Amino acid sequence: MAEPQRPALLSLDEVLARLLAVARERVIAETEKVDTFDGLGRVLARGVVSALDVPPADNTSMDGYVMRAADVPAAGTVLPVSQRIPAGVVGQPLRAGTAARIFTGAQVPPGADAVVMQEQCEALPGEGLGQVCVGAVPAAGQWVRRRGEDVLHGAEVLAAGTRLTPQGLGLAASVGASRLTVRRHPRAAALFSTGDELVMPGESLKPGAIYNSNRFTLRGLLLAAGCEVADLGIVPDRLDATRDALRRAAAGNDLILTSGGVSVGEEDHIKPAVKAEGWLEAWQVAMKPGKPLAFGAVRRDDGDSEALFMGLPGNPVSSFVTFLLAVAPVLRAIQGCADALPPAVQARADFDWPKPDKRREFLRARFNAQGGVELFPNQSSGVLTSAVWADGLVDNPSGQVVQRGDAVRVLLLSTLIGA
Ligand code: AMP
Ligand code: MG
Repeated sequence: MAEPQRPALLSLDEVLARLLAVARERVIAETEKVDTFDGLGRVLARGVVSALDVPPADNTSMDGYVMRAADVPAAGTVLPVSQRIPAGVVGQPLRAGTAARIFTGAQVPPGADAVVMQEQCEALPGEGLGQVCVGAVPAAGQWVRRRGEDVLHGAEVLAAGTRLTPQGLGLAASVGASRLTVRRHPRAAALFSTGDELVMPGESLKPGAIYNSNRFTLRGLLLAAGCEVADLGIVPDRLDATRDALRRAAAGNDLILTSGGVSVGEEDHIKPAVKAEGWLEAWQVAMKPGKPLAFGAVRRDDGDSEALFMGLPGNPVSSFVTFLLAVAPVLRAIQGCADALPPAVQARADFDWPKPDKRREFLRARFNAQGGVELFPNQSSGVLTSAVWADGLVDNPSGQVVQRGDAVRVLLLSTLIGA
């Protein structure tokens, strides 16, 4: 067998540009309507535009009395109470020189412009609804939530490409949207044919074996990213069987994902099988963890469409980080998300990193109570404990020495997972 050619070292940015260029041409076309109630985690194919002002009218944010500020020139002013306005009831225009008893959420009646909370008022006996002694001089507009202060009629409250969070669903509901147009779920097939050393939890660990953890991590990452996942499990270690599995996976999926068997010189059937069934680019990415990455596509039987293929490195932390930085952006792009790349924050390094790598590093890090970030002591790509301990990845440029107190760029796992 000829010595495999060592591919060129590419920067992560070059790799992302290539991945996104391909992915953006393959945005999932099918959309569906779902009840807003069931929309959690879906990606909007159409923006949500409000047909009303929210709130629809001025209303009070306090229980108390509503009045005209000008009618209370001094603390201790006594006004007759002319009406009582509970939430959900529309009051009468307020008679000048009177106050109305009002409860949180009720509309402010025409003619009134300020609310004084009940703690600052004293109810006094009198005819009808009695009187109120107003204990503080109100400012006009006080405790009044303005019509449209949240949303104006005609505003787009959620743009196409937005993934629906719980608060996003609430906002859609607040403008009265009962149905939402979303993209169908991306479909991913995960295939773990590689590695004779791998056994499943529940099986006995024969000498030389390790448990297959990537199958769990990657399936979880795919589900968290909103995918329907077909887990193809272990495929017999033969070229024809691997080609068969790829063809079957391509039929019903947008993306085929594997881990392991993509290193240079690795004698594995995945890469030749993808090449035979479609096309493949094998990359060396200047990042740590994660150097090898394969990208390609597998033809479908219809002849003119393909499923994307991504082959991740086998080391558990490498496949985790590579998923977050390379696969997740592809999944966002094929769902039409505007921001395929995750936002980062700046933080203070509460660590020293005197011997940086030549490659751009993604160090498992955690915020401390003082607002700085610390590193997990063992940054080896086999130490999955680091990925559980961490709440972020310090994005350290190639060759960059870090000293305690320096500003570093941090990608938060909470914005990377499930985005
Ligand atoms: P490879 O990329 O196949 O050379 O694998 C690199 C390292 O990752 C080796 O130590 C493998 O044992 C390990 N590895 C590969 N696949 C998995 C997996 N599914 N779960 C856990 N470790 C794995
Ligand atoms: Mg292997």
